[in-house]
Amino acid sequence: MSILDTKIEFLKGVGPRRASYLNKELSIFSFYDLLTFFPFRYIDRSKLYLINQLTSFETDLQIMGAVKNKKILGSGKKQRLIVTFFDKTGFVELVFFKRIRWLNKFIKLGQQYLIFGKPVRFNSKISFIHPEIEEFDQNNNRIIYKLYPVYHSNEKLSSVGLNSKGISKLILELNSLIKELPENLSNAIILKHQFISRKEMFLNIHFPLNSTCLHDAIRRFKFEELFFLQISILTQKLIRNKNVKSFAFSVVGDKFNLFYKNHLSFELTGAQKKVMKEIRNDTLSGFQMNRLLQGDVGSGKTIISFMTILIAIDNGFQACLMAPTEILANQHYESLMEFSKDIGIRVGLLTGKIKRSEKKQIIHDVKNNLLDVVVGTHALIQDEIVFCKLGLVIIDEQHKFGVSQRLKIYQKYKPTPHVLVMTATPIPRTLAMTAYGDLDVSIIDELPPNRKVIKTIHFYEKQIKRVYQFIFSELQKNKQVYIVYPLIEESKVLDYKNLIDGYDNVKKIFETKGFNVSMIHGRLKKDEKEIQMQRFVNHETQIMVSTTVIEVGVNVPNASIMVINNAEKFGLSQLHQLRGRVGRSSHQSFCFLISSNKLSNEAKVRLKSMVDCHDGFNIAEVDLKLRGPGDVLGTKQSGVLNLKLSSLVKDYNILNNAREDAKEILKNDPSLSILINKPIKNFYLKYHKGSLKWGSVA
Ligand code: ADP
Ligand code: MG
Repeated sequence: MSILDTKIEFLKGVGPRRASYLNKELSIFSFYDLLTFFPFRYIDRSKLYLINQLTSFETDLQIMGAVKNKKILGSGKKQRLIVTFFDKTGFVELVFFKRIRWLNKFIKLGQQYLIFGKPVRFNSKISFIHPEIEEFDQNNNRIIYKLYPVYHSNEKLSSVGLNSKGISKLILELNSLIKELPENLSNAIILKHQFISRKEMFLNIHFPLNSTCLHDAIRRFKFEELFFLQISILTQKLIRNKNVKSFAFSVVGDKFNLFYKNHLSFELTGAQKKVMKEIRNDTLSGFQMNRLLQGDVGSGKTIISFMTILIAIDNGFQACLMAPTEILANQHYESLMEFSKDIGIRVGLLTGKIKRSEKKQIIHDVKNNLLDVVVGTHALIQDEIVFCKLGLVIIDEQHKFGVSQRLKIYQKYKPTPHVLVMTATPIPRTLAMTAYGDLDVSIIDELPPNRKVIKTIHFYEKQIKRVYQFIFSELQKNKQVYIVYPLIEESKVLDYKNLIDGYDNVKKIFETKGFNVSMIHGRLKKDEKEIQMQRFVNHETQIMVSTTVIEVGVNVPNASIMVINNAEKFGLSQLHQLRGRVGRSSHQSFCFLISSNKLSNEAKVRLKSMVDCHDGFNIAEVDLKLRGPGDVLGTKQSGVLNLKLSSLVKDYNILNNAREDAKEILKNDPSLSILINKPIKNFYLKYHKGSLKWGSVA
């Protein structure tokens, strides 16, 4: 244990009371936590102005001088302390309205002070209203730094003296410890990137000498963060590839071949073939497949999952397919049922809403190997569901699933079954390489042939008539239409009313013209939902009014228009998902984004991105920039990517360097046991090992 692990309570100037506030408000528990609690900005006090140089009144400035005289004027609320302050070039006035008694005692004639604030000119006089004031002492080393750190604080912390300055003082207490910090990078890396030492880094992040030093310090810290993240990801990958044995699917058998011959009405795209080959190689190898399949909406991932399932079954194993919603699970179930008769596979469905008795049957059948494949929602991973010979787990649209749920599969079955995660929200390269660095990635980067770009147009609510006219003309061409309302939380009465009003309105307009309308939303019973969906699939209804339950995976190729109401309320990836429900055939499709007449700037950017951008990868990049990685990955709460300074978007170059270096080092020294890599190993074992457990789960 190093001294930096000491409880914060024992730092000089802290004690139990302040410690409890530091714990609660800032999650600072140890000396090290405090050391890595960084300023969120700096005030530039690197320049001292002379009073006769005060010509700019826009920014905060610093002057140095002494007090000539001071007086308290007025009474009650109007009471103020006026200080006449001078340097060798002139006079200014300092004006204080608050804490007058205290300041009057603190400010002494003859003492030198540093004054920091925004000067104002009133008549011919220059004043500082409530400036910061600090004694200047030539011998006080606190003045050696010129960029002042500003730390996050709050009222509670301030009440025990831990405002930004108070925190800064505590960090100063760590000064002597900083000097003894061991290195955590190898000399080779330090030399290669010309990094400053680790000690200098911490000193300059907290007490920067000047902006160059600060820049160097931040550059090194960002590198460290991303470097150890990569080390952690890459070592897990090495361990996994070496150690996790799994079943070898050695044959491609009858069921696969039957499906290929009888049920595939189209030729696989080149990208699909490539992915199938990758999956084949993985599942053959005798080691566990852990693969992320990325492909834009409509790129044809479902077929891949079915064929993989058939390979598992051909080799005598069971498989399960986990979908994020009930509707989607049902849909996959239906498709599997359709060809299972010819092929002779036994398919089960397990969602949260099936009857108790049916569920019991499934539990029984799964355990006794009477079912080959079970499609379901997360109900599939309940403790009571235990497969007899589970060889393959497919997780569709994984970003909808919690990490811990996936972990369950890994813990429950030994040997671990092969895992294929499919996501339709492409993860930007920067993120994928970081967050999913330990998964092998397959990408379907090609849409089935003859697909046309979905024409996306933004309309304001007041233009809705034009939209309805257009819908009418498409319906006359025998096409179908989705109309979506935001029901963000199923419980929200207002959103619900919105949907029902919309439904009534659409019915009024189109039923008189001879078209039928379905509606689905989360409040409907499962049976009713299915009936409504089925009517739309069978073309008995031409319009589907729905909430976002339709978002993921639903496949009705004849639908050619997607109307999204209150489009400004949706996130980019959600909009892209919804749009992906159309454009599933060779016909021209349309997506109409209807927004309220007034929009925030951010909403405008979002809608414009949708209009301009058709590729899910680009959209994901924009999304990442707008929302940050935590939201995009859904890992914000879990604190997985707990990056203090680096940004996966802005620091792409540093990330790249860090990854290359980490790769190179591990290539030559996989267990980090060579002497020169010792600093890396020590630090990694102490602070990073196991920090990315979820990475192997994703
Ligand atoms: P995803 O799940 O990736 O969003 P799907 O697997 O649902 O996409 O496929 C979208 C549509 O494209 C489906 O109707 C599917 O049958 C069809 N499809 C898939 N692959 C091909 C292909 N190679 N050629 C033509 N159509 C395809
Ligand atoms: Mg799909």
